[in-house]
This record gives sequence, structure tokens and C-alpha cells, in this order.
Amino acid sequence: MESIGVLMACPMSSYLEQELDKRFNLYRFWNFPQKNEFLTQHANSIRAVVGNAFAGADAELIDSLPKLEIVSSFSVGLDKIDLNKCKEKGIRVTNTPDVLTEDVADLAIGLMLAVLRRICECDRYVRKGLWKTGDFKLTSKFSGKSVGIIGLGRIGLAIAKRAEAFGCPISYHSRSEKPNTNYKYYSSLVELASNCQILVVACALTPETRHIVNREVMEALGPKGVLINIGRGPHVDEKELVSALLEGRLGGAGLDVFENEPEVPEQLFGLENVVLLPHVGSGTEETRKDMADLVLGNLEAHFLNKPLLTPVV
Ligand code: NAP
Repeated sequence: MESIGVLMACPMSSYLEQELDKRFNLYRFWNFPQKNEFLTQHANSIRAVVGNAFAGADAELIDSLPKLEIVSSFSVGLDKIDLNKCKEKGIRVTNTPDVLTEDVADLAIGLMLAVLRRICECDRYVRKGLWKTGDFKLTSKFSGKSVGIIGLGRIGLAIAKRAEAFGCPISYHSRSEKPNTNYKYYSSLVELASNCQILVVACALTPETRHIVNREVMEALGPKGVLINIGRGPHVDEKELVSALLEGRLGGAGLDVFENEPEVPEQLFGLENVVLLPHVGSGTEETRKDMADLVLGNLEAHFLNKPLLTPVV
């Protein structure tokens, strides 16, 4: 397989990069600032693209690679891949479901605890020597708070199970009611937001879910409500989020993802009711290795004419 050209869209995992290099003819796209020149020279030898949550395969890239057979994403989210284009051209697509579910769900719970119990602010309080000046203020209890989840898929369900263990009543919104749960279903997101204290975004990013958390949803969640986003930045109307937080119309937020990563609205930096993370939902040694092995397994299966491990298209 050493002669098969594989294009890696951006740096994502040194282990994956090293293993791809051993097995294939690996092109690191970021090493070629003149993209058009690179494509003119190498497009005909590239049969696979490896992308992630930041860079994938849009229509333009797909159209410029006439020999492309497969896009294997080092992510479960598919929002950086033009799936319709891939279907149209018979290009296979794989992602990394399941192996990252626990990490992302763990982090969602971590964000809920961090926002309500002010864990990051407490840490800063101790480091600044402020404890000597007096006790830290009282915070909000997490156990027993009602949790609303947007998207009861693999990650949403794992968050629900964890929150249940904290005694939190669970409700959710998605396009259809799930048959095998006792969680309360809301076909209206505004109603879900009106009826929970913590709202968690865990759905896929699609044209329909872009800005699914808009001003109306934030108003429904209210000045005591907390928004947790471990989905994708564009799920939330970030301008509205910033003004809702600055004006006290929303109680707090725990955010792992942002609309224009790695840009984060600086107005949020001074707010203690907000916890900001640099998109690290699946960012553990163990999970990133499992994700890389899935990418490698899918590519090998494809080029050996075996069934794909985690096919999407
Ligand atoms: P999944 O199992 O496919 O679940 C996605 C859920 O989104 C489904 O339950 C689906 O429910 C719901 N959904 C789709 N369209 C919707 C709509 N219009 N309105 C409401 N709900 C909708 O995927 P997953 O493995 O749980 O991953 C979910 C997402 O988490 C990924 O797509 C990714 O963006 C994000 N993620 C983030 C990180 C991170 O580092 N922060 C890491 C991994 C994943 P219905 O079909 O019933 O509508």
C-alpha cells in the first residue's frame, strides 16, 4: 500500500501521522502553502483524505481529487465533509463513533460541575492567595438539577446516564422520540429549555442545527439556566450567547467548542460563570489512539477490499 497517496488535511495526531507514513504515501497538506500548485502536481496520486473536526473534505477539494475513493475522518462529527458530494461521486466516508463517547460525556459532566460549583474560579482563588482573605462564596448544587439534552445519540445518551447517577431528571429534544428510554421528550426545543436548568448541546451539526440554540432558546433557559456545549460551536448563536451572558439573561455556560475556533469572544474572558475549554472533548491519550486506529483500520479495509469498520457512506 506504500504507493497509495493519502492526504492528511491538517495536523491531528502524531501517532496517526507516523502510522500513515509507514503504510501509505502520506502528504501533509499543511506543508504546502500553495494548495493549487500542490494539487496540480499530486492530485492524481491521492486516493484517500484524512480529516478531522477542523478540516475535512469540502466540495472544492473533492472535485480537485479525481482519484479520491475514501474520506476517513478522525472525528465522529461529519460537518467538515460534503457528504452529498461524496455520495454523488461514490466516495466512501468513515468516522470514529463510540470510541470517544465516554470522554465527551465525562467532559460534559465536568463542565456542569465546573460551572455550577465554580471549580475553575475556586482554583484561581486559591492560587491568588485570596483564601487567606476569606472563605469562597457559596455556589450552586449540581446533583438533582434537571438536565435537558439536545440530541439523544451516542454521546447524548452517555451524558444522560451519567447525569442520572447525580439524581438529575433527564429530558431531551431531537427530531424523533426515542422508543427505549423513559426520558421526557420535547418536540419543541424552546419547551425543553423552559423546563430544564441545564441545557446540553450534543447533536450533530447540520444545516438544520446551525444556531439551534438561538436567542429564544436562551431566553427560555433563563437567568438561572446553564448552557453546556460539547457539540460544535455553530450550534449556538455566539453573538447572542455573549450578550445573554453579559446582560445576565443566562445564568452560565460551559463551552468546549466555538463558532470560529480557535477564536473565542474575549468578552467571555472576564466572566466567572463561564468555563472555556479548547475543544478537548475526545482529547485523552487513550481515546485519540483508539480514534487513530479506527482511521487506519478503515483505510486498510478499504484498500484490501474488505468491509469498512465504521462506514457512514
Ligand atoms: P450521534 O449518535 O449520531 O447523535 C447525534 C444526534 O443528533 C442524534 O441523536 C440525532 O437525533 C440528533 N440530531 C440530528 N439532527 C437533529 C436536529 N435537527 N435536531 C435535534 N437533534 C438532531 O452522534 P454522537 O456520536 O452522539 O456525536 C454527536 C456530536 O457530538 C457529533 O456530531 C460532534 O459534532 C459532537 N462531538 C464533539 C466532540 C468534542 O470534542 N467536543 C467530540 C465528539 C463529538 P435524531 O436523529 O433523533 O434527530
